[in-house]
Amino acid sequence: MPLDHQLPPAKQAVLDQIASGFKLSQTKLHEITQRFLEEYALGLSAYNHPLAMIPTYVTGVPDGSETGTFLALDLGGTNLRVCEIQLHGDKTFTLRQQKYKVSEALKTGEASALFDYLADSVDHFLTEISDSQISNEEALSLGLTFSFPVEQSAIDKGILLTWTKGFAARNAVGKDVVGLLQDAFDRKHLHVKCVALVNDTVGAMLSRAYASGDCMLGAIFGTGTNGAFAVKVEELTKLGNDPAVAKGGLMILNTEWGAFNNSRSVLPSTPFDQKVDRESINPTFQAFEKFISGLYLGEITRNLLLSLVDSVPSLLFSGLSTPTLNSHYGFDTAYMSAIENAKTTQEVKQVLVENLGFKVEAISDDDAAIVRWACETVATRGAYLSGCAVAATMIQTGHAQLGGGSGPEEKILKVGVDGSLAEHYPGFQDRVRQAIRLIVGEEVESRVEIAMAKDGSGVGAALCALQALKQAPSRP
Ligand code: BGC
Ligand code: MG
Repeated sequence: MPLDHQLPPAKQAVLDQIASGFKLSQTKLHEITQRFLEEYALGLSAYNHPLAMIPTYVTGVPDGSETGTFLALDLGGTNLRVCEIQLHGDKTFTLRQQKYKVSEALKTGEASALFDYLADSVDHFLTEISDSQISNEEALSLGLTFSFPVEQSAIDKGILLTWTKGFAARNAVGKDVVGLLQDAFDRKHLHVKCVALVNDTVGAMLSRAYASGDCMLGAIFGTGTNGAFAVKVEELTKLGNDPAVAKGGLMILNTEWGAFNNSRSVLPSTPFDQKVDRESINPTFQAFEKFISGLYLGEITRNLLLSLVDSVPSLLFSGLSTPTLNSHYGFDTAYMSAIENAKTTQEVKQVLVENLGFKVEAISDDDAAIVRWACETVATRGAYLSGCAVAATMIQTGHAQLGGGSGPEEKILKVGVDGSLAEHYPGFQDRVRQAIRLIVGEEVESRVEIAMAKDGSGVGAALCALQALKQAPSRP
């Protein structure tokens, strides 16, 4: 919704000029999607491509009839949660959970300290919250939702390729994360066995399939971004003749699309993006994620705002800023959400006063309108790029064609999403859909059904633990 204030033409002209660097034409959207398909193909055929296209060894998708009680441990970008999930077998479940805080020190310290903390949290949950009976004979089965790139070699084994989203704990990259967790459980004599490792996107896909019988894509648009979908095992040519995997079936694949186009050859970088990357904990990595996800949108916007503050003559806040706006990551993506939700310039000002330390008298109506424009510009581009990832996946899985035309069947295409942008950012879904329409046409877009994958990380881990137990006898 447009604000109740119009900028003078001279200022608007400067903003239009900047906005042109953020706009994605239909041609550009097609070009990005085409590149996506090329990187998908590379990642399917060989290891060590930026787009990891990780085989998950999950070869079954639930249909809602599954039952059982499982523990789940969910380490995402922002939260750590321990959950206990009861699958009722009728597409419903009960979930009991507790959140725990992960400090900056744990994120960037020794990995063993981080994993000890994970084990302590499970211990706390079992003694204080859960009513699972801990027996001496059988260990409780736990699914680990670990939302980082892990090259899996089995459903319960995989080495961490790299940290993302501000994590940098030492001595974890290259190690088996299930082993690290199990060692921590064993050090504490916890009678818990980690039986499955699952990415949050895979969890989203499994939980949407459990709740609605089917799912084409599980995607996260939150602190980070990523997607998972099922492929025919034959298409995963890089697996070669892995005896653990039966031919003829499907396997869920974790794309790790956050690393799409790390070379930035097709991504629409602006100087504000380059600065975000250069000052990040992982420069040159996770390029796509840095255009899209919650950890970075605020920071891109902050860079853009400060360039307007610093322009001569100043275009914003009369050349002044605040300590919060001056500090790295000081402009949270949640503020953008609040600003885009505002209906009047007055409400925009309120967000700036409450969160960024501005005095209300220091903000003109022009300032409020410019801040609102900046949020919209950065967030719209992010949502359009998110649409490219969804559209590319629709094409990759044979449900759509680049440039339009109907798909082979009239099926509803279910997308299970999770993450703070998908859940809370105003207009996010509409913008994603606009981009999808521009890429694959209206007919196919109208059959896409995007819905929240409820408690995807918890329920998905439980479903994956169940799947692991089912698959276990056939494993070598
Ligand atoms: C990670 C993915 C994860 C995504 C969403 C990315 O930074 O690499 O594994 O799925 O964030 O949480
Ligand atoms: Mg999460």
